[in-house]
Amino acid sequence: MARIEVTCATKDQPVHSCEPADVKLACEGANDAIYFLNAQGFNTANRVLIVVAHQLPAAGTATAGGLYLDSPDGCHGDRAQAVHLLSYSEFKKFKNWFHIPIEDALYRSLAAHEVAHAISDCNFKFARPTIQAKEYMAYVTMFATMAPAVRARILRKSPGHGYEGDWQMSTLIYMADPMRFGVQAYRHFLKPDNGRRYLHAILAGKVMVE
Ligand SMILES: [Zn+2]
Repeated sequence: MARIEVTCATKDQPVHSCEPADVKLACEGANDAIYFLNAQGFNTANRVLIVVAHQLPAAGTATAGGLYLDSPDGCHGDRAQAVHLLSYSEFKKFKNWFHIPIEDALYRSLAAHEVAHAISDCNFKFARPTIQAKEYMAYVTMFATMAPAVRARILRKSPGHGYEGDWQMSTLIYMADPMRFGVQAYRHFLKPDNGRRYLHAILAGKVMVE
């Protein structure tokens, strides 16, 4: 199983002592992702470094609470894959996430989302998967492992029946509303013919390739 390390950084101080709540929630979310993906048949042997900071690296977008920069060379050997998270205090400044007030469970889910990116990056069987393929993995992991009461609140706020198939999961649809994409992708995952089989179809490049 993947080894998780957490480090905390600020703008002025590359490393300082972490807020215990940040570390605890980030580690719990990371473990949620690892256990879920392991149970889905993913290789979870990579090493993941979670960097908690008051700002994300420049490649991140202003509304994102976390960032994973593709680093598949971290899948082999001892190099860690870096996942970046805003500190919980910064994340809370968004007030809402997925249209509900931010609470501990959502910070844990943010960590699960980003760690799922790191693990699935090591499991794709081909180069350069599409953004929607990568986000499907991260959102499904995040919602599957989320506290059920919190997940139920989010699903109530974003009604829908889930995507019917991969023709509805284009890059454009993802970009238009990433959160909506996440909720609808999770509902798609729950449909009887999808689930684990669909995750492996994505990894093999059989679906969501354009
Ligand atoms: Zn993502």
